[in-house]
Amino acid sequence: MLIRVLGTAAGGGFPQWNCSCGNCRRVREGTFAGRPRSQNQLAVSANGLVWFLINASPDLRYQIESFFPLYPRPTSPRDSPIQGVVLTSAELDVCLGLLLLRESQPLTVYATESVIRILLEDNSFCGVLRRLPDQVRWRPIALDEPFCLETIRGMPSGMRCTPIAAAGNFPGYVTAERASQLVVSQASIGLFIEHGEKKLAFIPGSPLVADSWLSELENCDALFFDGTFWSDDELIRVQGTTKTARQMGHLPVGGPDGSLKRFSGLKGPRKIFIHINNTNPMLDEGSDEHRQVIAAGWELAHDGMDLGI
Ligand SMILES: [Zn+2]
Repeated sequence: MLIRVLGTAAGGGFPQWNCSCGNCRRVREGTFAGRPRSQNQLAVSANGLVWFLINASPDLRYQIESFFPLYPRPTSPRDSPIQGVVLTSAELDVCLGLLLLRESQPLTVYATESVIRILLEDNSFCGVLRRLPDQVRWRPIALDEPFCLETIRGMPSGMRCTPIAAAGNFPGYVTAERASQLVVSQASIGLFIEHGEKKLAFIPGSPLVADSWLSELENCDALFFDGTFWSDDELIRVQGTTKTARQMGHLPVGGPDGSLKRFSGLKGPRKIFIHINNTNPMLDEGSDEHRQVIAAGWELAHDGMDLGI
């Protein structure tokens, strides 16, 4: 399986347009010991010819142009190797890029039923994806039920995907009344993606690590996990907001019960943090937090990273 990491930041990117935290300020000054990042985005392929997007970030147009295997093929005036998109939630940094794929290109979008309902019933903008009868096929996916990623012609791609509940909530723009009509376990998912014997885990947003995941993760070749915040009160200190990392659906990386500790016994997969918020001190490669991450056997995903598993 080929995995291209097209974007690695949490919502807002790094630097974020309205943020002057120490990290964002130093990136703009050119004095930061680390890399800028676009918003979280993967592309996966079994053969390098047809590709699937994992989420659809607001930076997607630029991210597609950064990777030539995603360029249109010269077989017809309008074409793309991109066959479909798998969404892990209805957060804007996960699905806003769908609107950038509106140019009448056939695509399959895989998402939970609740996420599809939010997009299609509550957001009239998404009507641009339904202008043609065959434009976007919306495929509901169910927790713990594997499904095949198929080409737009309905052929198997060789990759199989299994959604797992990631214990998050619906995005803040979904009202409590609307959320009560939906299924909360479908709000935020992680994915196991398999090709033959090879297996990738992608869990970009979760406030916990379920015990039941650990044995399956041990058998994975690579794990991308939620690297949004270092500490539970990070945004409260930087931004004056009232919600902790966990309340926002993200397990902090550091601390006595953070993800570094929680995964300390995990030896099987290559372990990579993704969806890293611009405020996270581990982005600074000279920081103690960065050293702790590397010492624990983890990597930080960066834009343009390639994995072959
Ligand atoms: Zn910032």
